[in-house]
Amino acid sequence: MKTRPKIVVLTGGIGSGKTTVSAIFKEFNVDVIDTDLISSKLTGKNGQALKKLQENFEPKFFNVDGSLNKELIRYEIFSNDKAKLKIEKILHPMIAKKVEMETLNAKSPYVVQVIPLWVEKNKNLRSKIWKLVVVDCYENIQKQRATNRSKIDASTFNKIKLNQASRLSRIELADYVIDNNGTIDTLEPQVSKIHNLLLNNV
Ligand code: ADP
Repeated sequence: MKTRPKIVVLTGGIGSGKTTVSAIFKEFNVDVIDTDLISSKLTGKNGQALKKLQENFEPKFFNVDGSLNKELIRYEIFSNDKAKLKIEKILHPMIAKKVEMETLNAKSPYVVQVIPLWVEKNKNLRSKIWKLVVVDCYENIQKQRATNRSKIDASTFNKIKLNQASRLSRIELADYVIDNNGTIDTLEPQVSKIHNLLLNNV
């Protein structure tokens, strides 16, 4: 029987560099399971979560193709705790199921699960995972990169940050910390080092 791959969780604040770092793990042939991507698929056009979401949220929260309007729902969640709980109750179990499936199907000796809010939501499940890797950078750099990248403006960034753990509380729990204060090319050597340590330990 195939053995279950060991689970490495990659986490970090918004714009810290999780996606960038996970792409480097992929280059090392590590299977990467990205919960943001899973969530986007579930709520995007023809996504499996849409039916349930449409039963629970007004039509104004959906685009013409039926997909979830991410910007609108984000604003709703910021101002309405009940809506936040409701969407989490629908999406989190579906995401967890997909993560489990992708983990079981993985081919590499360990998998990287990218989970943005792991420290906030899952730290009591530490014994379920093998290692925790945190991507870290200063908050001003994080803000600059997050707002440059996307439709997120400074005020939205601040609101998202409010719901996220502090840098220190993540670092305290980490087995490995990736410093992303420098240029992108400083990341590969750090990932390579961690990858080799992990492979020697599997
Ligand atoms: P996260 O997935 O944690 O939100 P990303 O990996 O998407 O963060 O990075 C946020 C943005 O910053 C992206 O546009 C990415 O290309 C850029 N970025 C990440 N690391 C660096 C870096 N070291 N130098 C410059 N830009 C970076």
